[in-house]
Amino acid sequence: MTMSPEPSGTVPDTAIYDRRESAVRSYARSMPRQFGRAEGVWMHDDQGGRYLDFLSGCSTLNYGHNHPILKQALLDYISADGIAHGLDLHTGAKQGFLTAFEDLILTPRGLDYRAMFTGPTGTNAVEAAIKLARKITGRELVIAFTNGFHGMTLGALACTGNAAKRGGAGVPLSHVAHEPYDGYYGPDVDTADLLEQRLADPSSGLDAPAAILVETVQGEGGLNAASPEWLRRIADIAKSHGALLIVDDIQAGCGRTGGFFSFEAMGFIPDIVTLAKSLSGMGLPFALTLLRPELDQWSPGEHNGTFRGNNHAFVTATAALRHFWSTEEFHRDIERRSQLLESRLLRIAAEHGFEARGRGMMRGINLGSGELAATVTAACFDAGLIIETSGAHDEVIKVLAPLVIDDAVLGIGLDILETKIREAAENNYAVAAE
Ligand SMILES: *Cc1c(COP(=O)(O)O)cnc(C)c1O
Repeated sequence: MTMSPEPSGTVPDTAIYDRRESAVRSYARSMPRQFGRAEGVWMHDDQGGRYLDFLSGCSTLNYGHNHPILKQALLDYISADGIAHGLDLHTGAKQGFLTAFEDLILTPRGLDYRAMFTGPTGTNAVEAAIKLARKITGRELVIAFTNGFHGMTLGALACTGNAAKRGGAGVPLSHVAHEPYDGYYGPDVDTADLLEQRLADPSSGLDAPAAILVETVQGEGGLNAASPEWLRRIADIAKSHGALLIVDDIQAGCGRTGGFFSFEAMGFIPDIVTLAKSLSGMGLPFALTLLRPELDQWSPGEHNGTFRGNNHAFVTATAALRHFWSTEEFHRDIERRSQLLESRLLRIAAEHGFEARGRGMMRGINLGSGELAATVTAACFDAGLIIETSGAHDEVIKVLAPLVIDDAVLGIGLDILETKIREAAENNYAVAAE
């Protein structure tokens, strides 16, 4: 198996991007190739280079690229002139999805949610969730957490912590309080206690919240994994203060942390859950806000959108649910791969005094420096491994391999990562010693 991209053939003319594409593009800068094709865990550039994908569209491709079963379902649907766009009309594709979601996801987990199809991206699902919470409670404040990431539209952006992202808003981002996430002040401070104390104190200045919005593992925020105890406390605090608990499962859900939902078997049930990223299973835009039936107090069309419920995504999502989530096998595969990933990352981290982080197949290594992390990810890319960073200073290398990855191929990717971290760390020591 050759891993290094070996450029061959004609070099694509990429000047059009500089000439015509907005400067806002970002990933294309750290991976300056033109990609043409992808299957499974591999992406191919137009010069014959092959890359192992440890980014998976930031956990949008949990089942890999162009999974043959999902692809065939979509091809069949399109060939039969299936409805591509139908506003929120009933379609066979939607019926198929709702039925599979009820049978394979909700019922087996004893969950009772209604599905609200929002506009197609994650941030739409978050907007709908916080809007509903404000409408139901009649309160304005949403409590979000340090390092949280919830999207780029104003409401969701107000809930996002990152200063660079917030800076793009151009208007005040208000009606959100960012409270310290689990572990924010180190292992000795229970930040759930702090939140409880502030909410119980009528003079703390913290208003009664409409909702508490939380990721169980912070994807963009640096792979901080909250403990089940802390999350249960947050759920209790929400309940006792009349706030709705919203779990943003856009990145941590759809199997990334093991179960279909990231909060499974933790002993609490969110009032509202947002899903997107890997929900369609094939990288098609598709977002969903789940709400307890009592909370379904929308009037028809009160929250709207032209692309609510993408029929092509319904088809691929249904195929993904039926293929991966009708037995325990996939769950067991993820558990095994998670352990493999965890032990390798712990070993690499231990070798250099770094810190391994995360949960399930949503893990990474905190290198303590964004510069060092960027050096490593660039070296990985040159060696044929697509991998990115997250965290307040982009200091955490995140491994978001497709969940379907072969154990052996996972090992090959981790070998590259291990080597590039070692090289960069040794180089760093050498520079420091000069
Ligand atoms: C990616 C992400 C979002 C935003 O989703 P978009 O599709 O980019 O709008 C929201 N919340 C979390 C946790 C995410 O990872």
